[in-house]
Amino acid sequence: MDELAERPVLAVDLGGTQIRAALITPDLAVHARRAVPTRDEDGVEAVVARICTVAAEVRAGALAAGLPPPIGIGISAPGPLDPWRGIVLSSPNLAGWRDVPLAASVSAALDLPAFLERDANVAVLAEWRTGAARGAGTVVYITVSTGIGGGAIVDGRPLLGPDGTAGEMGHITVDLDGPVCGCGGMGHVEAIASGTALARDARALIDAGAAPQLRALAAGGAEVDAELLARAADAGDTAAAMLLARAWTAVGAMCASLVNALNPDVIVIGGGIARHRPRLLEIAREEIRRRAFAVPASRVRVVPASLGDDVSLVGALPIVNARIGDPAFAGRSHRPQVAATATQGASRP
Ligand SMILES: [Zn+2]
Repeated sequence: MDELAERPVLAVDLGGTQIRAALITPDLAVHARRAVPTRDEDGVEAVVARICTVAAEVRAGALAAGLPPPIGIGISAPGPLDPWRGIVLSSPNLAGWRDVPLAASVSAALDLPAFLERDANVAVLAEWRTGAARGAGTVVYITVSTGIGGGAIVDGRPLLGPDGTAGEMGHITVDLDGPVCGCGGMGHVEAIASGTALARDARALIDAGAAPQLRALAAGGAEVDAELLARAADAGDTAAAMLLARAWTAVGAMCASLVNALNPDVIVIGGGIARHRPRLLEIAREEIRRRAFAVPASRVRVVPASLGDDVSLVGALPIVNARIGDPAFAGRSHRPQVAATATQGASRP
């Protein structure tokens, strides 16, 4: 896509706690931003109506401020989802969301084309276009947060797959007999190193009486989470330090596997832990040196995300501009040309 030919878009970020929206202009500036609580306990219809209202308010506010009208709407949402049909398939973070045709509902309400994409894919596009991975050909994006999300650009194209589910790095198995993941799988890196997993294991340490500094910090009323675990480790708590080291080594092992599988120029690590704890990036680099092939390991740069919370808004600009004239995104059940190629391949003797 010629960047000069890009036009403004309405960006919507549907998160578990907040719905955010803004107008994004081709210089990737964020205008007329608004945010409201998601409150998924009100039900799917209420949340969809709230999204439409917030998007309409942003459009009205932007027009009143003299900004140009958007050509379409880009919606970032938790996966798994179907970007070709614009449907949220199911979401562990949004109660009751199953097969919700979100893009069609928002499109009808605002009379604009709307496109849906998984939050980590929106983020990798934003970091690639304007952030920490700018100019790279092959990029892996990982966010280490409540869960572990991922997305990739391979040879200059977003990696989607025929079902649009490619890039779910957090659900790579790093321990054959490891704990059960929120997705139902076993030994996934998310089940070992996500904020949710660390909070679970930290509470188990406290209950077992194995982590005195962690117990003391928690007794002060602080929430037992990854950051508290890191503070206990800083204070000399050996059990807390070992738990954290194992989690971050799992993230590093996943990065090493991705270096071997995809040969990325850059691995961008986002999320609060990467922002506040640079040791996570150091361990990722060490594990890549230990576990990956020497040539791709020496090429890859492991860097923190640079766009902060706006990452899920800014990525809407390239998504809408690239997809608005593409018939593959006009409601088909999967990417047609990829499905045709796969069928031909399967029928060969
Ligand atoms: Zn999983």
